[in-house]
Order: sequence, then structure tokens, then C-alpha cells
Amino acid sequence: MTWKPSVISELLHHRARGLSKGDPVALPILPSSTFLLPGDPDGSHFYGRNGNPTVESVEAEIGLLENAEAVLFPSGMAAVAAILHTQLKPGDKVLVHADGYYNVRALLEEHFVPRGVIVETCPTAEMAEADMTGCRLVMIETPSNPGLDVCDIAAVADRAKAEGALLVADNTTATPICQQPMDLGADMVLMADTKAMAGHSDVLCGHVASRDTALINQIRTYRRLGGAIVSPFDAWLLHRGLETLELRVFRANENALAVAQMLEKHPAVQSVRYPGLPRDVSHAIASHQMREYGPIVSFTLKDRKSAEMFIENNPLIVPATSFGGVHTSAECRIRWGDQVAEGFVRMACGIEPTEDLVIATEKALDTLR
Ligand SMILES: *Cc1c(COP(=O)(O)O)cnc(C)c1O
Repeated sequence: MTWKPSVISELLHHRARGLSKGDPVALPILPSSTFLLPGDPDGSHFYGRNGNPTVESVEAEIGLLENAEAVLFPSGMAAVAAILHTQLKPGDKVLVHADGYYNVRALLEEHFVPRGVIVETCPTAEMAEADMTGCRLVMIETPSNPGLDVCDIAAVADRAKAEGALLVADNTTATPICQQPMDLGADMVLMADTKAMAGHSDVLCGHVASRDTALINQIRTYRRLGGAIVSPFDAWLLHRGLETLELRVFRANENALAVAQMLEKHPAVQSVRYPGLPRDVSHAIASHQMREYGPIVSFTLKDRKSAEMFIENNPLIVPATSFGGVHTSAECRIRWGDQVAEGFVRMACGIEPTEDLVIATEKALDTLR
């Protein structure tokens, strides 16, 4: 029988296999802008914008998780920008999620529409039926954030391919632990590693991954020329997070499911969205393409005041935006102008013991009556 360790074991062990006696077992941080270069260049490191050993080690780790080549960026949006800049030219048409990460659409509107790119939007739940005629690029985010709608990635990929469009999947909410869009036909994945990948709310970073060598080389060249280089210190923080990614994601998912199950039964809650709930409209497709359902639960309380009170009265919630950290956090999304009800709460589960989080959340809801 041939047995191969899982990618997680490989992530944890591959570095040590390449070491010699006396080498450090932990990944060193190498903050050098320039490297010794006598004579002619020979492919070794020579300048920090072209390559850094710490950054490359972390890219190799992400490459294992994605089963693809990965290029690191100093934020998720820098990764988005690299994709848009390398793939779009005047006259191209883009189809983008109407309900995913807002800044992606803002970047397109602000910088690409004036340069002759045509932008069309479609709600995540309707992506598989969208009109992709003449599209150059289709950008999906599933589950979408904060609404937690889901689209059938394989179906969208088939449609995109038939139209000759590239399919890009923002996999930030799911992470490669829960979902592998490239296995389902996506050409590229982008992630805000700021969230669960780094996982400790202390660094911004992002990446683009692709199994298409020509595409990923365009992204890498763009980074070298555009200069959006991640620092070796920040890359190292991401590395530290990646070593516990699977453990953290499993616990956060378990917490989200347990919280969602409790919310479903609580009289103060008007509605709950979590793709892991069998009753959720996203569940049929999500259960087909996701291994687990992510750390985010969205739900609606009576009004904004109830939502704020719930957040304030829950000692295990940090009132903050973002997600994927070790602490559970929550916010009223109406404050950002999202198309949601006044009492809509996005709760991003951390890695607290599940029972603690469920009890604290239930008690905070009880105070609303
Ligand atoms: C946070 C986020 C981004 C942007 O990442 P930054 O690191 O903040 O630039 C992109 N997409 C999604 C889904 C996100 O949640």
C-alpha cells in the first residue's frame, strides 16, 4: 500500500528534511534588501524585491495547501490588484460578485472603469446562471461575506470556460482547509491571509495561487515591477499562523456550527445564515463542495439596538471588524452600508472552547428580552 502524508503533515515537516546538522529547525527571518553578488547573476538571491528566502519558504507552505504555485502580497487587496492589473485591458468585461468583499468592486469602479473595463455584478447565489457572454474574467467569493450565500464553483467554472473567461475565486472565508476552488475548475485563487491563514489579528498579507504556470508567472512579474513586496517579518508571522491553521480552522468551524445551531432555536433571533445548517439555503451546494463551513455566522436580531446590546453583553465577543482571528468578534454590518437589516450581526468565531462560546452567546441573547 502506498501511503502519502497529508499536506498538513507535509507543511509541518518539509522544512526539516532539507536541513543540515546545526541548521535552525524554526524558520529564520532574513531581512536583507541585498545579497552578496560578485560577478554575474546566477539565479541566486540578489535583491529583496526579486526574492527573499523567508518569503519564498512561506510561499512554499501556501503552495502545499493550495496544491499550486503561490505568490505572496502585503495584503489581500494587493493580491486582488495584481490579478486585475495583469489580466484586464481596455474593452475587457468583468463579472464580479455583487455581495462579496466591497473593496474589490470599489477598486474596479475607481481604477478600471475609467480605463475602459466593463464591470458587471451578480449576486453570489445567482452566479451559476449569470450571463458571461464576452467575459474576460469572472470573480467569485463563496461563501460570500457577510451574507453567506454560496455558488456552485464547478458549474460557474464550466460556464466561464465555455465563454473563454478566467475564473478567480476569493477563498478567504473558507480557506484551503474547507474548500479547494482549483479542484473544482477555478483558474486562480486569491486569499486575504490577513484573516484565518495568519490567524492572530496581527498582520496583513495575501496571496494569489494558480496551477497555470503562465498565469502565476505574470502575477510574480507584476509584483516585482509593481513592488508590492511582503516583508520577511510579516511573512514569518504568516508562517507562524500557518503551522496551526488546521487546528484553528477546525475549532472555529466547530464553534460556528454550535453557535448557529443554538441561534436557530433562540426566540430573540429572527433569522440565521450558516451554510453548515441543513436548513440553510446554501447547504445543498455547500455540502457538495466544502469539507466544513467556515467560522462566520450571520444572524438578524430585532433592531440595531438589540444587535449592539448583544455584542456588548457577550464577554466572549470583541467588538471589531475582520475575522479569522483567535478571538470571536462581531459587528453590525449596517455600519458599513451593507445591504442588510438593521439588526444584522456578523459573528466571526474564534477558537474559544465551544461550550464557553455557546453559553456566553446564549446568555447575551437572553438579556435582550
Ligand atoms: C479582508 C478581505 C479581503 C482584503 O484583504 P486585506 O488583507 O484586508 O487587503 C479580500 N477579500 C475578502 C473576502 C476579505 O475578507
